[in-house]
Amino acid sequence: MLRSFLIYLSKAQWAQKMVTGWSFAWKAASRFVAGEKTEDAIRAIRELNAKGINATLDHLGEHTSTMEEAAQSTSEILAILDEIDRAEVRANVSIKLTQIGMGLDESVCRENLGRILQRAKEHRNFVRVDIEDTPYTDTTIAIYKAMLERGFTNRHFGMAVQSYLFRAEADTKLLLENKTTIRLVKGAYKEPPDKAFPKKADVDANYDLLTKLMMDASLAGRSNLSEDGRIPPIPAIATHDEKRIEFAVSYANKVGLPKDGLEFQMLYGIRRDLQEKLVKEGYPVRVYVPFGTHWYPYFMRRLAERPANIWFFISNFFRG
Ligand SMILES: Cc1cc2nc3c(=O)[nH]c(=O)nc-3n(C[C@H](O)[C@H](O)[C@H](O)COP(=O)(O)OP(=O)(O)OC[C@H]3O[C@@H](n4cnc5c(N)ncnc54)[C@H](O)[C@@H]3O)c2cc1C
Repeated sequence: MLRSFLIYLSKAQWAQKMVTGWSFAWKAASRFVAGEKTEDAIRAIRELNAKGINATLDHLGEHTSTMEEAAQSTSEILAILDEIDRAEVRANVSIKLTQIGMGLDESVCRENLGRILQRAKEHRNFVRVDIEDTPYTDTTIAIYKAMLERGFTNRHFGMAVQSYLFRAEADTKLLLENKTTIRLVKGAYKEPPDKAFPKKADVDANYDLLTKLMMDASLAGRSNLSEDGRIPPIPAIATHDEKRIEFAVSYANKVGLPKDGLEFQMLYGIRRDLQEKLVKEGYPVRVYVPFGTHWYPYFMRRLAERPANIWFFISNFFRG
């Protein structure tokens, strides 16, 4: 109930206007968001890199409502790829397709993504396409296929799959046929029961099943993390759920997948203890580092994932 309400709020313009007007809201959001400027994000990445953690940088933004905004977002992403190269940090980039026009015109989005992937290729860097809610899944897959046709490969970009979706297994198999790297997540949106498993136990079981598929593909394709920490192996196990992580570790051991044949991913500000523990055990870990002024929907999804975060939000109000 509460989760659904918070996800509804994450898309409500009136709520965005109200919440972003409260100064204590930004204080609470800054637990999950590295800052508003590029230099804040690069600083956060350097701190992670010093701990042996790689990063993926997300310039927050989604659902742009005009072509101009989509073009502006594309230019900002190109600038970030340049900045990562200049700063020589161990980071790649994550983007949302609705940020660069998917909700406005598919062909414009394709052109914008093509420019971004071309720049990533020039910098020998990598772009991860985040996965959004189901009204966009088919178009996301169509755009993915168009990028393969243009010659972009798993050295330039990767996709994400949500284990809560019934279609996740079929999508994973399709992506693996092309050796595409996959970030496996549970899914952060509100989906109807004809599209997604309503029960958490089923979402988790599907997560483990897809982990196996990705790891088998990684073993067969000898996919490893690149030395500069930018180009990931096929499986990215993106979760803070210790049981899913334990399953991944034990399956990798069982099939003999080397530690750099997978990576774990977590969100900035969540389970830092677990991130550092996995690094100490010798696993590649990548943290998703969001930054920018469009933090509202991202922050609301983080509240929805863990209702206890609401108390943390409220406590910021009392701290003033
Ligand atoms: C690197 C990364 C990229 C992602 N990209 C996408 C994407 O492209 N599309 C998409 O739909 N979703 C994405 N997500 C979000 C994902 O779908 C889940 O909503 C989110 O990761 C929470 O699920 P969980 O796997 O951690 O498991 P859960 O079962 O939800 O949580 C397990 C435990 O993790 C901790 N935890 C989880 N969330 C929080 C939180 N917000 N605050 C504090 N503690 C928390 C709690 O201790 C909780 O008990 C991404 C997640 C990660 C880690």
